[in-house]
Amino acid sequence: MEKAKEKGLGCSKNNFWVAIRNPIYCGLIFIPKYKEEESMLVKGQHEPLIPETLYYDVQDVLDGRKRILGTKVTADDNIPLRGFLICPKCGRMLTGSASKGRTQYYHYYHCSSACGVRYKAKEANDKMVEEIRKYVWPLSRLETCKDVITSTYKSKERGERDEQKDLKLQLQEVNSRIVKARELLVWRYRRRRLSCNQI
Ligand SMILES: [Zn+2]
Repeated sequence: MEKAKEKGLGCSKNNFWVAIRNPIYCGLIFIPKYKEEESMLVKGQHEPLIPETLYYDVQDVLDGRKRILGTKVTADDNIPLRGFLICPKCGRMLTGSASKGRTQYYHYYHCSSACGVRYKAKEANDKMVEEIRKYVWPLSRLETCKDVITSTYKSKERGERDEQKDLKLQLQEVNSRIVKARELLVWRYRRRRLSCNQI
């Protein structure tokens, strides 16, 4: 920080920490939640100062997901979504922490800015699990689904094999009719010639 100031950085420590969370530097703009639309990041028209990958690398370091030499990465089972939630009000990454109650710890996800966004970790975790469940089926249901697909495929294959057999038989029948028709034709032709010769 001191070195950065020497080089001309003109902002407070606090503002600096807020600023490096701003996705605008990698060309993205935060669009806050509006009516039914969820908040999102969109590509802006401006030229990014840093590549998107560097931005996310920095966020990972800030959130403690990326190991930097000397620092210890602590994963807390109570706040597994720390570093994955974006503040719906201001677009910063929510952080997580525990606060001690009278008898136990209470965990929260909260915004690092003054916007005041704060969620009870337990409720947020449950909501996320609920949301994920909408897209991921339970294993038993997946097994059933697999069985249905396999048996449908097999019966379809069997059906196609039967159809093929039917077609072969039909083809044979048509062929033998052609042979008979040809024989008949030859026989008639011969007979006509025979009768012509007799005249
Ligand atoms: Zn916020």
